[in-house]
Amino acid sequence: MAEDPRDWEIETRAVRGGIARSPYGEISEALFLTQGFAYPSAEAADRRFGGEPGFIYQRFGNPTTAMFEERLALIEGAEMCRATASGMAAVHASLIGLLRAGDHVIAGRALFGSSRWILTNLLPRFGVETTYVDGPDVDAWRVAVRPNTKVLLVESPANPLLEVAPIGAVAEIARAAGAKLIVDNVFATPIFQKPLALGADVVVYSATKHIDGQGRVLGGAILGSEKVIREAYRDILRHTGPAMSPFNAWLLLKGLETLELRVLRQTQTAARIADLIAEHPKSKRVIYPGRKDHPQAAIIANQMTGGGNLIAFDLGDRAAAWRFLDTLQIVDISNNLGDAKSIATHPSTTTHRSMPEAERLEIGLTEGWVRMSVGLEGANDLSRDVSRALDAA
Ligand SMILES: *Cc1c(COP(=O)(O)O)cnc(C)c1O
Repeated sequence: MAEDPRDWEIETRAVRGGIARSPYGEISEALFLTQGFAYPSAEAADRRFGGEPGFIYQRFGNPTTAMFEERLALIEGAEMCRATASGMAAVHASLIGLLRAGDHVIAGRALFGSSRWILTNLLPRFGVETTYVDGPDVDAWRVAVRPNTKVLLVESPANPLLEVAPIGAVAEIARAAGAKLIVDNVFATPIFQKPLALGADVVVYSATKHIDGQGRVLGGAILGSEKVIREAYRDILRHTGPAMSPFNAWLLLKGLETLELRVLRQTQTAARIADLIAEHPKSKRVIYPGRKDHPQAAIIANQMTGGGNLIAFDLGDRAAAWRFLDTLQIVDISNNLGDAKSIATHPSTTTHRSMPEAERLEIGLTEGWVRMSVGLEGANDLSRDVSRALDAA
C-alpha cells in the first residue's frame, strides 16, 4: 500500500511533504520561476480554464508555491493552505474573505500592529466594525457577540506581552454565534499549537518569522478546511493578487525542512534565558509561556506543547530597557522574530509606538518592557550576553 503523508510523523512531513518532482527526478525541490504555462492545444487550454487541475498563471498558483502550500498544510494538519506574499497579506485576506459591509468583528486587544491597523483604520471604511476584548477573558468574548458578528480574531500567544487566549472556548463562542474564528499562530508555530484541532476555522501565519527562520524573505499563509479556503478565499486571492513569489516559496519550503529542529532548540535555550531573567534582581517581571508563573499557565497546559522562543520582561522604565539593549553584544536590536539570530526590541518605542498610550496601557505595555526572540546561538554565549545587559540595566 502507498504511504499516506498524513500518517507521517511531523519530521517526515517537514522534509518529504508536498514534493512534486519534475521529469528530471531532482532531490531538492525545483524552483519554477515562471509566470505562465503553455498548453499542448487550444482544447487543453479550454479544459484548464474550465477547471481541470493544472497551472494557469503565477497569480493563481505555481508548482513551487504549491509544494510549499502542501507541505505546510501537512505540518499544520489542515486540509488546504494558500500562500501569500507576506503575513499581513494573509491576515488581510483572511478577514476580507469572510466579511461584508455591516458585519462585526471581535478581536483580542493584543495584536500585531498592522493587524490592529486593518481592524481600526481600514475595515471601518467598508462598514465593518471591531470590538476589542481581553484575549484571556472568555466572558468578554461572549458579551461582545452581536447578531452581525461574523469573525473572531485572536493572536495567541499575542504580541508583545505573550498573553494567551483559550482557543477552544473562543471557538465555541464563534460557533454558537455562527461566526468564524481566525487564529494568528505565529508565536506558537505549527510545532507547538494546532488551532484547527482546538476548533478554529482558519489559521494564519507570517512565514517571514520561524518558517523562514533565517531572516531572508517575506511570506504568509492561510490554512483551513477545503470548504472555507475554496468558498471564502480562492477567488479573492486569485483576483486581488497577494501571491507568494515562487522564489520565496522555494526558500520557505526549505525553511520548513528544519522548522521543528530550529524551534525546539530555540525553545530549549529560551527556557534557560527566561529563568535567568526571572532570577535577576533588575527584572520586575518575566512572561514566558513555558514558565509556571505565566498568567495563563493553565490555558497553556491545555493548548500548547512548548513555550516557544519569545520572552517578554519588564525592567521598570525606558532608561533601564534601553541600557539593557545598548549593552547587548551578541543579541541584535531589531523588531523581527523567529530568526536564527537572537533579537531584542523595545516594543513601546518601535513595534507598538503607533498604538495610542491609553491602549498600550490597556494591554499592560509600559516603557520598561523588552521582547526577546531567542535564536540558535550557543546557550552559554546568550546567557552571558543577557546577564551582562541585565547587570547594566
Ligand atoms: C510579523 C507578524 C505578522 C505580519 O507578518 P509579515 O510577514 O511581516 O507581513 C502578523 N502577525 C504576527 C503575530 C506577526 O508576528
